[in-house]
Amino acid sequence: MLNLAKINKSYQVGRNSLQVLKNVDLQIEEGEFVSIMGSSGSGKSTLLNILGILDNFDSGSYTLDDTVIGQLNQRQAALYRNKFIGFVFQSFNLLSFKNALENVALPLYYQKMARKKRNRIAMDYLERVGLRDWAEHYPNELSGGQQQRVAIARALISQPRLVLADEPTGALDSQTSNQIMDVFADVNAGGMTVVIVTHEHDIAERTRRVVHLRDGQIDEAEPMTALN
Ligand code: ADP
Ligand code: MG
Repeated sequence: MLNLAKINKSYQVGRNSLQVLKNVDLQIEEGEFVSIMGSSGSGKSTLLNILGILDNFDSGSYTLDDTVIGQLNQRQAALYRNKFIGFVFQSFNLLSFKNALENVALPLYYQKMARKKRNRIAMDYLERVGLRDWAEHYPNELSGGQQQRVAIARALISQPRLVLADEPTGALDSQTSNQIMDVFADVNAGGMTVVIVTHEHDIAERTRRVVHLRDGQIDEAEPMTALN
């Protein structure tokens, strides 16, 4: 489904150039459940942002679903992103002045879907993450785990082919983290490709393939199936 070949990415810091990704090759097949693991500063978010067409790269190639991403203009990139990719972030990124249902429905609002229809669909997605009874609650009335469930429902509502999550359990205790990973496992079992960035072993072990990122280089993809 996606293929990165010899991706290089550097940031300009003052007069210096900091090379963050070095000849990264990565291939992910449709339906995979992958974690990208590495310590802080190893380039995980940079890599995920490139996968999510949120950031560009200096050299190499990226193809997603047979489309060469480097050749997209900004407008095409945005269209592609909205259509194919769902994002989940460590800090949930919910709108504080909208309730859970409205937050989940937001992508459909941007697609100009009528309120009644989008709220009905949003309720189905809230139900899927176990929050039907919390629809009217605002983010500050929800626990961290509940907020992340709302964020996952929002990421799923546009039926993306690919779900990208950047440290989605980074702000949660381990029990809640496990429940969030149950939700991702469930999403993956439904056929969606899921890629999770984490620095925690326990989280990576919940996925079916772990890709290690060390100093901007892919170390080795380690199949986890042997452990099961
Ligand atoms: P991780 O997510 O693994 O912690 P990042 O991809 O966020 O790593 O960052 C990798 C390196 O790139 C870090 O040294 C970070 O400070 C640097 N970096 C990230 N974003 C920027 C930026 N916009 N400008 C300059 N340096 C950056
Ligand atoms: Mg990061």
